[in-house]
Amino acid sequence: MTPRRGVALLGATGSIGETAQRVLRRHPDRFRAVALTANGNQAALAAAAAEWAPAMVGLVTPDGSALPASWRTGAAALLEAVRHPDVEIVLNAVVGAAGLEATLAALVAGKRVALANKESLVLGGVLVQRAARAGGGEVVPVDSEHSALLQCAAGRVGGDGEGLLPLRGVRRLILTASGGPFRTWGTERIRGAQLADALAHPTWQMGRKISVDSASLANKALEVIEAHVLFGVPYDRIEVVVHPQSIVHSMVEFDDGSVLAQLGVPSMELPVLYALSYPDRLEDSGVPIFDPVASSPLEFQPVRHDAFPTLGLGVAAGRRGGAAPAVFNAANEAAVSRFLAGSLEFRGIPGTIGAALDALADHPADDLPALLAADAAARTLVKEYR
Ligand code: NDP
Ligand code: MG
Repeated sequence: MTPRRGVALLGATGSIGETAQRVLRRHPDRFRAVALTANGNQAALAAAAAEWAPAMVGLVTPDGSALPASWRTGAAALLEAVRHPDVEIVLNAVVGAAGLEATLAALVAGKRVALANKESLVLGGVLVQRAARAGGGEVVPVDSEHSALLQCAAGRVGGDGEGLLPLRGVRRLILTASGGPFRTWGTERIRGAQLADALAHPTWQMGRKISVDSASLANKALEVIEAHVLFGVPYDRIEVVVHPQSIVHSMVEFDDGSVLAQLGVPSMELPVLYALSYPDRLEDSGVPIFDPVASSPLEFQPVRHDAFPTLGLGVAAGRRGGAAPAVFNAANEAAVSRFLAGSLEFRGIPGTIGAALDALADHPADDLPALLAADAAARTLVKEYR
């Protein structure tokens, strides 16, 4: 019998965390939950802990009510979870920059990071690569586009190229974007969009932050940077195409011109499962079945950059490098949290990010303290932006 692999589930109470729990439930002979963490949702974390009886439970921001004596608290709980000796795979499903240090610690400890927390790679791409080299850990993406790219390029990973999973013989990466809820809206109507409009994603059910990112296409900017850091493909060979059905999850073009795509109904079940089982595939009856006839027709459209300026801002920040991606990420997080709280209009998101980049893109970025300082400066600027 194959020994069961221990999993730390960071962000166990979120959208990806819940998907991951469903996947783990279907594979009790392969995986066991060793550590579970959440930010503040004590009730959901307690329910998960009762089900899995993990060795470690961490609640980062308790609200003061009584907790089981064994629970750990504070951001250090994430680090303790990833370093637990029985943890082989860290599924990082924390939202935002708060996930970076856990990613770094897991890689330094030589673990696999099944990474949903794309912000880790955008904020700390260079540091993540250093940590993986130093500790021998590996990153396997959970993001559906990057899972698709990895699946298309399986067998061509490795070698001395740049990136966490350098690809051989690849000419171009084509990331698909659903286009979000405003795909067909005019530019003026988008500028006046309300919160409920932005949260109504046509094809994916996700947490609030990534839903807003999908409406502004900030999510696709984060994903272009994520693809560059993961696979080492230069920015001018990473393209984005709008694909409203979210059936083709992304495509890889090889040196001979052949293009492979990975298809499936929009569901995070398979990307989560694949990040746990990679490079193997496990038999699984819970991943929704794809029906080509029901899914047709498949359409592809160009991105409307004039209507979605956040995408261009983010990709430019990625190309610029240094602190720019960290500033983009932090400014976006801060702008989205203001939009969610009602103190910034949707139209204000790209403007505030642009202002943060103008002021801070040349901030030092040599090590973690420098990047965290750039991140903090961007958040302060956006909070105070009028
Ligand atoms: P959710 O908001 O649904 O869940 C976030 C999880 O992270 C919750 O468990 C939350 O705990 C925890 N958390 C929030 N803040 C902190 C913090 N400061 N420290 C520790 N834990 C924290 O987000 P999603 O599941 O939608 O997204 C998670 C990540 O996965 C994001 O990076 C997103 O971009 C990425 N992703 C998500 C996809 C999706 O389909 N949802 C698809 C592809 C990528 P609590 O519940 O206690 O607040
Ligand atoms: Mg994605």
